[in-house]
Amino acid sequence: MVDRRTIRKRRLALWGGVALAGLAVVALSPWAGLAIVAIALIMLAQRRGVPILVYHSVSSDPGWLPWGHNISVRPEVFAAQMEHLAASRWRVVPTQAVFLGETDHRSVALHFDDAYRDFAVAAGVLRKHALPATVFASSDFIDPSIGPRPVDDAPGYLNADELRAFDAEPLFNVDCHGQDHARVAVSDRTTPRDPNRWGPETAYLWSLLPGDKSRWFETEPPGVAHVPETESALIAAAVTDAGLESDKARDARVTQSLTEARTALTAVLGRPVTFLCWPFDRVTPHALASARAAGFTQFTAGRADNPIGKRTDILSRTHINDRAAGGGPIWLEVLVFRARLEVAAGNLLFLPVTALAARLRARRFSILHGPDAGATA
Ligand SMILES: [Zn+2]
Repeated sequence: MVDRRTIRKRRLALWGGVALAGLAVVALSPWAGLAIVAIALIMLAQRRGVPILVYHSVSSDPGWLPWGHNISVRPEVFAAQMEHLAASRWRVVPTQAVFLGETDHRSVALHFDDAYRDFAVAAGVLRKHALPATVFASSDFIDPSIGPRPVDDAPGYLNADELRAFDAEPLFNVDCHGQDHARVAVSDRTTPRDPNRWGPETAYLWSLLPGDKSRWFETEPPGVAHVPETESALIAAAVTDAGLESDKARDARVTQSLTEARTALTAVLGRPVTFLCWPFDRVTPHALASARAAGFTQFTAGRADNPIGKRTDILSRTHINDRAAGGGPIWLEVLVFRARLEVAAGNLLFLPVTALAARLRARRFSILHGPDAGATA
């Protein structure tokens, strides 16, 4: 399947070229030239897919996450973005509507990866505007506490009672984000790291901690002084002391991990769970086959546009971050958000805004290798 970046480049080259040709024609025949330019702009502005916007943490202080600056959005920025969605002609639909093809050119869906405790803060905003959303929990990261806790943006993850309560609300769904959200070694080449900090390699350190990891940030890091090259544990054959894992062993490990994740979340929610959101937005045909063997039927990590008005079982998503232009006032955040939404839908006229914003942001922030930081635009 051709990915949406390639399709966008082709559309940009084709209709950008037509627009330039139209401008050249203006000198000879103004009306014909302007008509050609207009047609090219209309073609560039076409919405061709249903955007799915991915959030993670919504917090005023995400410092406990080594990749916090890359994935967290401040509550006031999130509130302004949702206000825009509610007041605009966009229509936020449940994720299942995208799977079922019950969508039109104004549809958009909202995802929250990792099931951070601060989803409770986001949920308040979503309820205010009656906007549906899906939350993805990794089973090793479900907090062991019992009962609902105060709504705040404290560090950590939702507990089972909170996940069940959100899933029971008509606006929200909770679905599966795998088991351990880990990365594994894929080569013997290592680089030194600070063994006393969790750091950007934390998802690799998680692979060394079996079982419950929900309070990892409150514990001492495992004291690893070198980190190897890594890849998502669900797609890569791991390098261990015993050597490189065989493809068969990898597939068996992935199927088992996803089966355990599905079983655990099904028990928490009291309903079958069949929707898997791939950690790091990474998948391969092998991993997909393992996930189907584990009982999943609906997925993320697609690379195409989500078809408008047509069924699909693999969703493609767009990662939303804060300080989208490197900083500045809230109105600037909303401006870039609007442009990102249009570009995510396929309207390329807004590309200059998102490209400039991305450049300004890159000047201020380095891209960390945190969970899902590689999610495509
Ligand atoms: Zn994640």
